[in-house]
Amino acid sequence: MNRKHNFNAGPSALPLPVLERAAANLVDTKGLGLSVLEMSHRSKDFEAIIGHARETLARLLALPADYEILFLQGGASQQFAMVPMNLGAGGAYVTTGAWSQKALAEAKTVGAAREIWTDADENFRRVPAPDALDVPSDAPFLHVTTNNTIYGTEYPEVPASKVPLVADMSSDILSRPIDVSKFGLIYAGAQKNAGPSGITLVVGRRSLLREFRGQPWVPKILRYETHAKADSLYNTPPTFNIYCCSLVFDWIEAQGGLAAMARLNELKARRIYEVIDRRPEVFRGHAEAGSRSRMNLTWTLPTPEAEKRFLDEAKALGCVGLAGHRSVGGIRASLYNAQPMESVEVLASLMERFQP
Ligand code: PMP
Repeated sequence: MNRKHNFNAGPSALPLPVLERAAANLVDTKGLGLSVLEMSHRSKDFEAIIGHARETLARLLALPADYEILFLQGGASQQFAMVPMNLGAGGAYVTTGAWSQKALAEAKTVGAAREIWTDADENFRRVPAPDALDVPSDAPFLHVTTNNTIYGTEYPEVPASKVPLVADMSSDILSRPIDVSKFGLIYAGAQKNAGPSGITLVVGRRSLLREFRGQPWVPKILRYETHAKADSLYNTPPTFNIYCCSLVFDWIEAQGGLAAMARLNELKARRIYEVIDRRPEVFRGHAEAGSRSRMNLTWTLPTPEAEKRFLDEAKALGCVGLAGHRSVGGIRASLYNAQPMESVEVLASLMERFQP
């Protein structure tokens, strides 16, 4: 098979060995005589699968003892609502892109929410300096989007916070080691670094997850405590997707864990940014230098015609998913964990020789 160089922002490239293992195990999973697609989610066999996924992810994240992991549904978008529903109204939001704007807007449907920092006027080219935030001490949480998938910006380090820090890490979870203890709660749609779409990872301090702080009207299905007490099996989860995530976690661990991912991601991103910086007359990076994302790299060319020709030439080389998000245009290359260096090299070489 002639696999494409897949630069999609999500769903995005998965490691080939994961796809092959999922395929090989589809009909007869783990030699059990039935497919994971056909298993009861209440069976011992599936409990072993979800348990393995949870334990591997906990090891990868060096999860502190007072934290736990939930596998939920509804995407990161459902977390925009669940966070204020569970942690309480009045959250402080840093809006660094379209997804954090959506998180803030959804929080406002639940109750009060305040924006404490944004660079929307400058079209989301940077994230705040660690000491730039004035977080109200009465806020139940501070919400940040650690990597802005559409604009291509990322926090080099997360802000320190006296109130629980809540992070949408949809597009940079598992891309490098993090100190989980700095966060109250992390959530991420799986479809970039963690597996197929349909699963949302929630990693939180046990007290935040288990002690409901919202209003009585919040439905049981939207309360973290419901899912925490049921070990993420309150209702039927997407069993196959959880299985696929566990294969991705195994793959990351076999590569050397998050430190290895970080090294590789750094090299891949540097390869592309170097060309952008070397050829400023051709490529204009969107993100400011100190806020550049290693996961989603965004740039424009001098004219829409040059951008179209660049995309056409990339397509002829087998590259897909490079058109920028419809709200910003230009080019976006997503270089998640599973993106091989060879694909990055194909793109970087084209950038080196391209004439606008
Ligand atoms: N947050 C971020 C940072 C994202 O990149 C995305 C999707 N690309 C979302 C939230 C929305 O995720 P979902 O589609 O899983 O709801």
